[in-house]
Amino acid sequence: KLFNELQDLKGNIRVFCRIRPFIPGQSGNKTIVDSIGDSGQLVISNPSKPGKEGNKTFKFNKVFGPTATQAEVFSDIQPFIQSVVDGFNVCIFAYGQTGSGKTYTMTGPNNATEEEWGVNYRALNNLFKISQNRRTTIEYEVGVQMIEIYNDQVRDLLAAKVGVTNISQPNGLAVPDASMHTVLSTSDVIDIIDVGFKNRTVSATAMNERSSRSHSVVTVHVRGKDLKLGNCLYGNLHLVDLAGSERVDRSEVTGDRLKEAQHINKSLSALGDVIFSLAQKSPHVPYRNSKLTQVLQSSLGGQAKTLMFVQLNPDVGSYTESLSTLKFAERVS
Ligand code: ADP
Ligand code: MG
Repeated sequence: KLFNELQDLKGNIRVFCRIRPFIPGQSGNKTIVDSIGDSGQLVISNPSKPGKEGNKTFKFNKVFGPTATQAEVFSDIQPFIQSVVDGFNVCIFAYGQTGSGKTYTMTGPNNATEEEWGVNYRALNNLFKISQNRRTTIEYEVGVQMIEIYNDQVRDLLAAKVGVTNISQPNGLAVPDASMHTVLSTSDVIDIIDVGFKNRTVSATAMNERSSRSHSVVTVHVRGKDLKLGNCLYGNLHLVDLAGSERVDRSEVTGDRLKEAQHINKSLSALGDVIFSLAQKSPHVPYRNSKLTQVLQSSLGGQAKTLMFVQLNPDVGSYTESLSTLKFAERVS
């Protein structure tokens, strides 16, 4: 039912905004972003223009304030997971500057308790629950891939994991050059994501460093066989923790850092262009402009449903970056 409403939205794109709380021990405590009740509106105030003139308002499908729990956030995502089990393709991604809570939303904090689980674990957990409930009519198989896109190149984060088992599915759904692993339970998923995260840190000096400069994509493939009719449905879910969107000062970086920054800018703007074209129902959608949009193509456009999380750091010092994040979101929503 919820998705009949979703179908009516421009290009099946929804945008949720999430403001992270201040973190104990970190500077700042006065927020410059505020949501207006449950209206989906958010006001950002320019710290150097006090009063109403410095305020700008943005509108989203939903705004989650700093006290929103992971469970509350997931309850608004659940219909998307239902869609995957019903045979739709879905893409959920988190956009924002480094430190704005992208990883917290998608995965959770390090060593998360079940309460702190992010979208990744909750989505898979929910998916298993739904398939279990349907087991007398549909037999489901679930496969997971996990990659990192760094400097426009795909790296398989599960390459070292033994027991590769592809689930058979139509062409064009699996991420090329990445192994697939069948998962039977949420604990399998936790193990796999753990392996993937560890691989992300290989060859990186500091984990946060590298992880903020690459996109990580967990892809979930669902194949459901109707036990009576024998036919199959296929659903595909991309869960994406994007590279930090912060602008890098070109005068301050050179060499590898500059190259990275250029790749990040290029891929994030390619993603923005794709979503903008879809929202405009433009006949040409420029998927080919970056590796990121090529990988996500099956879950952007057509019958697919897309959910973007716009992540904000509430601190004064993040004003410029927050404004630019909001402008990115405004263009596609
Ligand atoms: P990003 O992935 O965008 O760089 P993180 O997800 O790593 O940002 O978040 C930065 C810090 O803020 C981390 O310590 C994270 O645990 C914390 N954090 C982010 N969002 C929340 C939240 N909603 N509640 C509590 N802590 C959060
Ligand atoms: Mg992160």
